[in-house]
Amino acid sequence: MGPSRLRVPGATLLVLLCLLIAPGARAQRTQFKAGWNLYSPQEDIRLGRQVAVDAEKQLPSCNSPKVDAYLAELGSKLIAKLPTAGVEYPFEFHCVNDKAINAFALPGGFVFVNRGAIEAADNEAQLAGVMAHELSHVALRHGTSEATKAQAAQTGVGILGAIFGGNAGGALVTELGRFSAGGVLLRHSRSAETQADVVGTQVLYDAGYDPRALAQFFEKIEADSKGQNPPEFFSDHPNPEHRVERVEEEIDKLGGLPRNVKRDSVEFEAIKHEVLALPTVNKDSLTAGGRAPRPMGPPPVPSRNYTEYQASAYGMKYPDNWKKYGEKDSVSFAPDGGVTEGEDGQAGLAYGVIVNVGKVEGPAGDAKALEKATRELIATLEKGNPKMKIARQPGPVRLNGQPGLSTYLSNESPAGGEETDWLITVIRPEGLVSFVCVAPEKDYENYDKTFSAILDSVRLAK
Ligand SMILES: [Zn+2]
Repeated sequence: MGPSRLRVPGATLLVLLCLLIAPGARAQRTQFKAGWNLYSPQEDIRLGRQVAVDAEKQLPSCNSPKVDAYLAELGSKLIAKLPTAGVEYPFEFHCVNDKAINAFALPGGFVFVNRGAIEAADNEAQLAGVMAHELSHVALRHGTSEATKAQAAQTGVGILGAIFGGNAGGALVTELGRFSAGGVLLRHSRSAETQADVVGTQVLYDAGYDPRALAQFFEKIEADSKGQNPPEFFSDHPNPEHRVERVEEEIDKLGGLPRNVKRDSVEFEAIKHEVLALPTVNKDSLTAGGRAPRPMGPPPVPSRNYTEYQASAYGMKYPDNWKKYGEKDSVSFAPDGGVTEGEDGQAGLAYGVIVNVGKVEGPAGDAKALEKATRELIATLEKGNPKMKIARQPGPVRLNGQPGLSTYLSNESPAGGEETDWLITVIRPEGLVSFVCVAPEKDYENYDKTFSAILDSVRLAK
């Protein structure tokens, strides 16, 4: 190739330069395609609102109209610059009276900011940074994208079906609690974190704030917690690698650090003062008063007379003094008092059996597919139940003559203390059929026989 080939006529060069420069910095900003998502934006809003109602009941409010108004005002400046792809989200901002440095946003735009995050921010730009990060999760629809992934694991169907059903008797929802079930919506992957950082930085930049503030704040809270427990924030928002570098790279793409960026405001300093003076809410008293179930006696002893239940994939018997909750692929059976209800109306299944039919890949009787599906189900349950642990690894068992797996899990009981969950899984043409037998650890012995009788009565459809 001769050098003459490289020569470009002057006019062409000018056009080329114009093409390169004319679209300006905006054209170079990183854009993300929305992730794979089985939900519509309207479903984001519906789901987010349901979970937000429960979150509001469970979380202590700052009870400060001033602080809420400030968050809404700051939020609206950021929302104006948020790439929402034309969707009108009903954004809401709530101040939570919790000293932990944390914030979260539910699908559809329901944002909760802990007082701890306001107190830890050095200036308005840093608080705006956290909020812009959260709002970016909403705009990029990361919550339902995570839920879609869980569903793709073929086992989350029951949980999400239960959330969407909004049915108080929905089986897994009674077990997990709607807000806990919402956990899957809040736990983000590292790549989602990077996306929220990059878009959040763009939002800060466009809103006139120092775009470095977002990464600076995360760096600061990480440094402050060295040697201690990492802040709660990082359990749902895992720290991506090279966070600061990626943000700086994006600022370069946006055309560099603008002059006269906004860092602080008189309003922020006043609000921080206000927040620092709020009464503190003791987390223990919160557990006793707000989140723990109403004290109640233990349920009556399970009857020795049994009633039949017939679903399409299986038939089974259960004590005739128990009630059936839920429908179709997600059914629970529990005694009176087995479903505990907190003062906030939140239901939790403390005693009983939950039966779920989920989608699964692989033929009935395939031991590998069963093991895989069982592990995935446990992983999904663990997502919604951070305290859940495997107490005994999956082992072979026969259910109505068919090969199944038996696993013991331990979890926090809604009745207080620990609970034991005996999980039996079996693959059928209808899908993965799972039976979860639940009782508080201290009472488990008294229910073991009943659980065994129920499982012995199971007849799988031919
Ligand atoms: Zn995040």
